[in-house]
Amino acid sequence: MRFLLINCLIFISSSVLAKTVTVDNVRIWAAPESTRVVFDISGPVKHKQFTLTGPNRTVIDIKNSRIGKINNQPKSQDKYLKGIRSATRDKNDLRIVLDLKKPIKYKIFQLQPNKRYGYRLVIDLFDTEIRQAKKEEPRKKIKKETQRPAKLRDVIIAIDAGHGGEDPGARGPSGIYEKDVVLKLAKNLAKGINKERGMRAILIRESDYYIKLRNRIEKAREHKADLFISIHADAFRDPRVSGSSVYVLSKKGASSEAAKWLAEKENSSDLVGGVSLEDKDDLVASVLLDLSQTASLEASIDAATHVIKGLRKVGKVHKRNVQSAQFAVLKSPDIPSILIETAFISNPSEEKKLADSNYRKKMSNAILYGLKGYFRDFAPEGTLISLRKHIIKRGETLSTIAQRYQISANKLREYNSLKGDLVRTGQTIVIPRNSSGT
Ligand SMILES: [Zn+2]
Repeated sequence: MRFLLINCLIFISSSVLAKTVTVDNVRIWAAPESTRVVFDISGPVKHKQFTLTGPNRTVIDIKNSRIGKINNQPKSQDKYLKGIRSATRDKNDLRIVLDLKKPIKYKIFQLQPNKRYGYRLVIDLFDTEIRQAKKEEPRKKIKKETQRPAKLRDVIIAIDAGHGGEDPGARGPSGIYEKDVVLKLAKNLAKGINKERGMRAILIRESDYYIKLRNRIEKAREHKADLFISIHADAFRDPRVSGSSVYVLSKKGASSEAAKWLAEKENSSDLVGGVSLEDKDDLVASVLLDLSQTASLEASIDAATHVIKGLRKVGKVHKRNVQSAQFAVLKSPDIPSILIETAFISNPSEEKKLADSNYRKKMSNAILYGLKGYFRDFAPEGTLISLRKHIIKRGETLSTIAQRYQISANKLREYNSLKGDLVRTGQTIVIPRNSSGT
């Protein structure tokens, strides 16, 4: 009798655990430096994984599960992934095999349901080494270039289209996603910037994939950006709210704030996009970075003020003053950074505008107008943009010009490759912009 009862209990508990989970769908997001594979699963799963060589593949064994429909395969240009296949194992289990193009490192984790998706099993595939080497190299170059004013460089503006891939951002009433319109806007803005003399844009995100917030800053730094602009579209529960706002990082950034800003909308991106335990260190690190932030904050505020001025030309501005908030993506200690909420995608008429390419062009022109204003105030030394022209009038000498612009005669000689003090009426010389403060 007792024997039977125990048996019965075992049966019940194992049948509860044994609820079969279905793997329903797969999405593949190919980014330049990683590929993310996301399986939709009907509930949490127990999984084991390992990699094999000859040929390279990653195997994921999932307990008590079966395959629904796997209707996606990687594109042929995917850097890491060749194909996905699956088979039943030990009657009730599922084996998924990712066929790879080369040896990789991977991270695997499960995600809780959110507004758009249910439970998910996520595998990130990336290179075994490369990233590290890339990070080290550019820093040395920065020093060299600022020390040599004779070789003038372009100012570099990093444009970050918010969200992407598994993280769609906000969604408009007619179903337009923030991640899509902000990418188009970012591309417009980059085009405009690249047409300007002395300015060059780099896109942090080039198509539909997710990049972690920390890595967005890292990428800007790799490219030695002079300014970082994150582009978003706002959402609010009241569809009547409209207009654009521009943010800089708020000064109050104590570690106790970490929890607070995590809860904030834009920051939750990393959670939506998938954060693993290792990233906890990143969160702490980004709070500590605040301490060295103050220097670039002044520049950030100036950039934001100019951009608002520009935006007022195209439409309604939601907040007339620069806003500040604890956005993780703005936490770059050495690069002035702003975040633009271009419009409210939750407002039906602004959603329509964001979807309109003409309007996006107008808006990116307005932002560009603001940027030009900013770089007149904060032109980094050694950049083409930091120079303005001066035509020598009768009676002027090198030293009176130096005095007028509050710059040393030596610097003037250096910038204009002049050997002595001789200048002639009608001659054009260049003056470094920031040395005068005018
Ligand atoms: Zn956003």
